[in-house]
Amino acid sequence: MKLRFTAALLASAIAMPAQADVLVDNVTGITLDENGAVRRFEALVIDDDGKIAQLIEREQDRPRTDYLEDGEGKVMLPGMIDAHGHVMGVGFGALTLDLSDTNSLEEALDRIRAFAAENEARPWILGRGWNQEKWGLGRFPTAAELDSAVADRPVYLARVDGHAGWANSLAMRAANITASSKSPAGGRIEKLADGKTPSGIFVDAAEELMNAAVPAPRPNERDLAFAEAQKVLHSYGITAIADMGTTIEDWQAFRRAGDNGSLTLRIMSYAAGPDQMTLIAGATPSPWLYDDKLRMNGVKLYLDGALGSRGAWLKQPYADDPGNTGLPLTPPAALRNILVRAAQGNFQPAVHAIGDAANAEALNAISEIAESYDGDRRWRIEHVQIVDPADLPKLAQHGIIASMQPVHQTSDMFMAEARLGQDRLGGAYAWNSILQLGGRLAFGSDTPVESPDPFAGLAVAITRSNAAGEPFGGWRPTERVTREQALAGFTADAAYAGFAEGRFGRLLPGERADFILVDTDPLLATPEEIRATTVHETWVGGRKVYEAD
Ligand SMILES: [Zn+2]
Repeated sequence: MKLRFTAALLASAIAMPAQADVLVDNVTGITLDENGAVRRFEALVIDDDGKIAQLIEREQDRPRTDYLEDGEGKVMLPGMIDAHGHVMGVGFGALTLDLSDTNSLEEALDRIRAFAAENEARPWILGRGWNQEKWGLGRFPTAAELDSAVADRPVYLARVDGHAGWANSLAMRAANITASSKSPAGGRIEKLADGKTPSGIFVDAAEELMNAAVPAPRPNERDLAFAEAQKVLHSYGITAIADMGTTIEDWQAFRRAGDNGSLTLRIMSYAAGPDQMTLIAGATPSPWLYDDKLRMNGVKLYLDGALGSRGAWLKQPYADDPGNTGLPLTPPAALRNILVRAAQGNFQPAVHAIGDAANAEALNAISEIAESYDGDRRWRIEHVQIVDPADLPKLAQHGIIASMQPVHQTSDMFMAEARLGQDRLGGAYAWNSILQLGGRLAFGSDTPVESPDPFAGLAVAITRSNAAGEPFGGWRPTERVTREQALAGFTADAAYAGFAEGRFGRLLPGERADFILVDTDPLLATPEEIRATTVHETWVGGRKVYEAD
């Protein structure tokens, strides 16, 4: 960890001085222009402010600049923009012990022991990804086994599916778990053979007993996590992201990075609910801070849950769970109240809606409120996974933006068939229908739920097939989008969805010089090649922030 941090510092120290212009020559440059048309170029000039001064096309003269960078013929694309992610989740994920590739209890214990030794300053050891079935253990592991690896600090590790946790003795003591602790409704404290002693395993609702004891991260831990998140996202070619569910603590970490000059990721922030929104920004959205790197745009709210856990709110019961339609998480009056409150302050609402009932409700509520609060609001609906085909045309009204995650389609397709049955999938992950009806898309990943890799997203967007090429020919393939539309979804249209058009998202004069150098042309390569794209360099505001080894 320490070494990597030093490497990051070094990288920023050798970057270009602020007051200099740069010619990046010899690239296969690709951008979309103001009309969404593809423009190709061979070189780009960055001005003193880290903005694009000029695009140079074939045979055109090169101006004299302070610095010259040779692009070595690589493909230059606008920096990728993830329209829906969870920045601190990425960072904490990167700092957490990952046991998902361990194949035995012994291997896991070795890894835990080593991780604890490498991270002496951490008061708790946290991790995830263990799976006793993959280990061939035939039973859950125990607190005593965990104690044999780490006995000086609490350890708490989530199972691969997130439905169970494994604690050591100190962690259980911190949570006041004893032989007399009772399992909560919807959960189970596993016991040893004596039927009394807690074994160290906490299932479902019982996990909350342990989670409540894990101390909230301190500011310096948040800063470390944020630095990791920037590093991870830049390595995938991401230069900007919409952070969905920013808390005041997250915001303060972003601000600390901005203040000390280490903020390299552009963040379009959506507060974790109306209270956090007011706490962070006050009565209106923040201005763009730190040279267009940070703005509190609006507020994220949850209208329903997810399909996997049957928490998505459906018009008709689940095909595989008759009688259950899921539930709205925000009642109708509360939804309208939050939308009005946001609109009054010119905040942009971002409504999580996955099921067809949730999407219908979001569309109806926006439509009602847009009558009083008109103008350029860019009402966002996040995920938009299952829409009743009858409701699809409403996505083209009131300037609504459908913020969707292509990779969710391939992750969810077989589950969606089970949950809904074939007949109710006519408006499922319906990217092309939404565009054809005149709606607007923005693409993202929902990282860390999925990998943040935008090239996997681009490949899915144009094929509706997963990494294995399945299903052959694509799942509901008429909903594919063109390569240009897919690229727009991860660049210019994702910027528009965050009120950032003209600032970044395209490689045009006057915009921030956010670009990546890659080995693959996504407008010409096969989907397999697009998935295998290597990001060689990532630049933000005319400064190199990532370079592959
Ligand atoms: Zn999300």
